[in-house]
Amino acid sequence: MAGAERQHNVIQDLLADLHASFKDVREGRVADYIPELAKACPDDFGIVIATSGGRLYEIGDTRKEFTIQSISKPFIYALALKMLSLDFMATKIDVEPSGEAFNAISLDPESGKPRNPMINAGAIAASAQICDADPAGAVELLLDYFAELAGRRLTINDAVYLSEKVTGHRNRAIGHLLRNFNIIESDPEPALDLYFQQCAISVTCKDLAVMAATLACQGRNPFTGGQPLSKDITVRVLALMGTCGMYDFAGQWLHDVGIPAKSGVAGGVMAVIPGRLGIATYSPPLDAFGNSVRGVAVCRQLSVGVGLSLFNQYFQKDATIRRSYKGSQRQSRRWRSDQELRILAPHRDEVRIIHVQGVLDFGGIEQLAAELVQLGSDVRILILDLAHVTECPLESSGLLDRQLCAIEDQGVEILLSRAGRLPLVSMPGWKISERVEAYEHLDSALEAAEDLLIARYAEPADDGEGLGLGALEEHGLLQLLDEEHRRILAERMTLRSFAAGECVIRRGEPGDELFLVRSGRFDIAIDVRTGDGLSRATRLATFGPGLCFGEIGFVAGTPRSADIIATRPGACWVLHRDAFEALRCSHPDVVIALLTALTCDIGAKLTQTSVQLTLMEHY
Ligand code: GLN
Repeated sequence: MAGAERQHNVIQDLLADLHASFKDVREGRVADYIPELAKACPDDFGIVIATSGGRLYEIGDTRKEFTIQSISKPFIYALALKMLSLDFMATKIDVEPSGEAFNAISLDPESGKPRNPMINAGAIAASAQICDADPAGAVELLLDYFAELAGRRLTINDAVYLSEKVTGHRNRAIGHLLRNFNIIESDPEPALDLYFQQCAISVTCKDLAVMAATLACQGRNPFTGGQPLSKDITVRVLALMGTCGMYDFAGQWLHDVGIPAKSGVAGGVMAVIPGRLGIATYSPPLDAFGNSVRGVAVCRQLSVGVGLSLFNQYFQKDATIRRSYKGSQRQSRRWRSDQELRILAPHRDEVRIIHVQGVLDFGGIEQLAAELVQLGSDVRILILDLAHVTECPLESSGLLDRQLCAIEDQGVEILLSRAGRLPLVSMPGWKISERVEAYEHLDSALEAAEDLLIARYAEPADDGEGLGLGALEEHGLLQLLDEEHRRILAERMTLRSFAAGECVIRRGEPGDELFLVRSGRFDIAIDVRTGDGLSRATRLATFGPGLCFGEIGFVAGTPRSADIIATRPGACWVLHRDAFEALRCSHPDVVIALLTALTCDIGAKLTQTSVQLTLMEHY
């Protein structure tokens, strides 16, 4: 059986429990003031949760179509804001809760402005603005927009539309009153017609949940990746759902349930937990306020039972700093010569590595700032690893910029690691961008920090490139040998130059040569299969002056296990197997001394690797 899944996801179980608890509730009445709505089956009952991660949980009648009715209101208002601007819409509709029924003729006595866009008067006023902007194309425009919100094409239920159109005298009266106050500036009939059509859009409970999840994700549909609404507009619409979404029950709703929501007379309820979930229910019987009885009960139970109220948020205490440790706790995969190691040893803790994770919103930046101000004055280089930062919202990014600039002003060099996916380095108005170096890999940042320390603390004579340059006799590997042995070896080794990018050792070739680096950089890269199952070319190690490579194949006589590439022009002294074999007969004591030196070298590398691995468990 393809894709057999484990049963008993607790969220699915939770929905099943909710459905079972409320399916037998018999309170409420199916709306009949629009004759066509009276045909709904009172037993229909569906619940869907759609997550910001793009997952769906559903139970009951979740794929049965019904008309959206008033749940269209937040979306239509959002569309009007998008098409006509906030300032313009503010001249047409207020944003105050009315505390009255959905069909109340609730207009400001002086300006004639509807109290808010979640009651019929405000919704008709919003539709009128859209209608005025594009009279001929308004319906198509609406359906295109709803297709983006729901992730599928929706249609209009003509029977319900016509049923309301012929009986909607109260709404018609509201439309004409709005015309009287010039809130609607032309004939109100086309606007009313658009309003009746928008209310008759057919949706399923699943559609509503996806639309709710789109609002939860700041206007981005987590199932399609489309962005029908901006973050700014979404925030405003959610606020209005919070204060006005449940008509004159809105205050009690916010108090008891604490979730922005919108209901419709056909029995739908849509609720949004910002950043997290969209919830939708479908059950036609309504209470005295016009809200679905079972829908209200489900939301109330979710809020109380599993803590979904907006006013019940957990502060993610100190979750932003994933790890923070000193430079001596982690070295780059660039092997260093003894000389370089001696320079680095007393200064490694001048480097601090901080791994940051999650959303760098206000709370995240506060935690990072608290960590940064605690850095000791001995810290001179800060590596900020951002691989696990999921977002850096524009609103709070300015604070991060200021904090980083302040640290930099105090003489701390900042290296950003794995910031690639974030707009950090290119953030508009960012001052720090010009002052930081960005690295694609943490290892490159670690290497750069070590290079900075070496450049800072090396004696003028042995800075950077110059380290180890000179005669073969001075090479690090040979320091364990006595002078005579060194001289004998030197006579049998040849100096070979490499161009940048040249392949020095190829995988599978016989391991017949031993390389002692005189200058340049030599990288071992292998394909590593990472956690996601993909294979990635990864730098295992880099060798510079004073180091040796190729020793395993050389000593064991086995083929090469990886490629080694010169990443810049350089030179190595090379000992060929033939010369080595000849030495076995002529100078066995030199062979023993060389093998001893190689054993020490491999041992040192193994120790360092083991230490790094052990430390990593504590990160
Ligand atoms: N079309 C309905 C009306 O205007 C919508 C009302 C509602 O869902 N509350 O009467």
